[in-house]
Amino acid sequence: MSARKPASLASARISAAMKAAGRMATTQDAASPPQSGQQAAKGSRKGPGVFARLAELYADMERAYAQTAHAAGLICANCEDNCCLTHFQHHTHVEWAYLWKGMLALPEARRAEYLRRAHDVVAQCEAARAAGVVPRVMCPVNDDGLCGLYAHRLMICRMHGTRNVLLRPDGQRQMFRGCHRFCGLTDGQPDEAVPTLDRTPFYRRLAELEMEHCAKGAGKGGAPRVAPRVSLTLAEMLVYGPPKP
Ligand code: SF4
Repeated sequence: MSARKPASLASARISAAMKAAGRMATTQDAASPPQSGQQAAKGSRKGPGVFARLAELYADMERAYAQTAHAAGLICANCEDNCCLTHFQHHTHVEWAYLWKGMLALPEARRAEYLRRAHDVVAQCEAARAAGVVPRVMCPVNDDGLCGLYAHRLMICRMHGTRNVLLRPDGQRQMFRGCHRFCGLTDGQPDEAVPTLDRTPFYRRLAELEMEHCAKGAGKGGAPRVAPRVSLTLAEMLVYGPPKP
């Protein structure tokens, strides 16, 4: 997907999403993220919707991450290598839609400012790539070190930093050693003693939510929707507007 989608089309999708968000205001999915699965289920005969369960999953990820970081003594304060500068590109439609749910809840002026920055970030990243350099550009919703979409930020924003493992569906085990600060804290420890976060159960739950979210678009207008992986940066997700339902 090119990042050069005409602005008018993105605007049309934002307007449509805002109308839809208004219509959904009385539904459970449009409610604020739940405090727990039990609370989310109360008052709903169908059970929590996809966004409510994504919020639960995000909370579970954050707890697991915090335990692993605590065990290693990792804190992010005053880190010179800010994760919000990192060029993350692989996400899901359900995360993208939830990010936009946060955008649509912002005051219009702030949303417009984030969109202005997002266009700028996309242009800077394209220039860096054209020069053969991996982009390192600050996330457009980072306000002087504070995340402007904290409750709706992406999975990677919640899990980057500690060592983690992932057992892929093909049986291969992937390992990320952790950020440079984490490695500095754990260097020299026996491998089995290094606190490690297993992402596998979280990825499985996210994959289920992604399938359910994308299945909602199936059948509308014909063929079932196949959801390829979203190879976009957060800035590009903002420039494109909300994903198509
Ligand atoms: S969404 Fe928030 S946490 Fe994630 S990169 Fe942007 S500013 Fe950082």
